[in-house]
Amino acid sequence: MTTPLVEMDGDEMTRVLWAMIKDKLILPFVDLKTEYYDLGLLHRNETQDQVTVDAANATKKYGVAVKCATITPNRQRMEEYPELTQMWKSPNGTIRSILDGTVFRAPICIDAIKPVVKNWEKAITIARHAYGDVYKSVDFETKEPGVCKLIFEGENGERHEAVVQKTTGPAVFQGAHNTEKSIRSFAHACFQYALATRQDLWFSTKDTIAKVYDGKFKAIFEEVFADYEAKFQEAGITYFYTLIDDAVARVIRSKGGFIWACKNYDGDVMSDMVSTAFGSLAMMTSVLVAPDGTTEYEAAHGTVTKHYYKWKAGEKTSTNPMATIFAWSGALRKRGELDGLTDLVAFADRLEKACFDTLNAGIMTRDLVGLVEPGFAAQAVDSEAFLDAIAARL
Ligand code: NAP
Ligand code: MG
Repeated sequence: MTTPLVEMDGDEMTRVLWAMIKDKLILPFVDLKTEYYDLGLLHRNETQDQVTVDAANATKKYGVAVKCATITPNRQRMEEYPELTQMWKSPNGTIRSILDGTVFRAPICIDAIKPVVKNWEKAITIARHAYGDVYKSVDFETKEPGVCKLIFEGENGERHEAVVQKTTGPAVFQGAHNTEKSIRSFAHACFQYALATRQDLWFSTKDTIAKVYDGKFKAIFEEVFADYEAKFQEAGITYFYTLIDDAVARVIRSKGGFIWACKNYDGDVMSDMVSTAFGSLAMMTSVLVAPDGTTEYEAAHGTVTKHYYKWKAGEKTSTNPMATIFAWSGALRKRGELDGLTDLVAFADRLEKACFDTLNAGIMTRDLVGLVEPGFAAQAVDSEAFLDAIAARL
């Protein structure tokens, strides 16, 4: 390796798996060069969360990162870790806002586990816009009859006023926004990711109803696509816009193998539907892509707390490391591509192949054994035995 990979360590069971993956699958084969950031909860606390900001800035500097799942503290965690001086914010939220990125989630598919939707032959990747709309909206309820207005006051005199609704009795109201800058970043990230993974891009909104709001999303995507059209033709891929309800029907009838870009709420809802239909959260990868191409790879699942407490009590757990391994292979491949290191790219391919060979041989973690097709002989092993089986094939 020539340029270091930004490595962000994390918490609980995934931190345990992180070390095992490095020991068994990476270090024996790769002359690994990383810049290490410990995003474990206690170290975030010791550094007043500066380590998260430093890791995000290092990612901007070097271009590629791999991240372990981390605890987002809540009230319960404050009791569990009395040394916490603050309920630190979600590291993923901090990193996402520094990188201004879009999150792409894709399932890892194997033949022995068929999606619930029979005609899906390839993975469907959801690209979720991670800013604004209902997630940054204000709302209230009213009791009296009256009128609700939406008013914009520009700093230089621009003014808009619209009646939301005149009501005759108790009612609820909501005001939401998005910014042109964020929508544009989202569009660039989607077109770049489609090119990088050579998949068609679909985008859906409800612009027949939200003519100005969703209409702006549609128009910005169309405008940004002009920059990418020639490259799309060259790559043999297409961009396709349709209404969200039409998209839902088409997705179900499709063979898969494309990226579905969704507004924030649609992406939240549809990613859970798509991931469940494909099988398991433990087989879902997540990639954060910034408009300048900066990329951070991770698993979509959390720190698997329940397994961690069993592991701490001395039990062997059958926690699935697939999504975390694929975060590593994705990051190493990307680093290899950027630095022209064909051996590193080849290693990433071989690592993923060794994982698939192991699963296809029926050696898997317990969560997957329950999902395989009837007649497929599968044997549940603990995480360490699973990693050893992959290492043997590698
Ligand atoms: P989780 O860690 O994803 O685990 C929820 C359950 O899903 C587990 O108990 C387990 O079910 C199953 N599961 C998830 N990943 C698995 C794997 N790799 N192998 C086998 N089973 C797996 O979600 P959570 O328990 O809600 O959250 C735990 C912590 O993770 C929280 O502190 C949260 O803040 C954090 N979190 C972090 C991220 C991130 O860093 N990206 C994302 C989400 C959550 P069984 O117990 O039934 O086996
Ligand atoms: Mg959700």
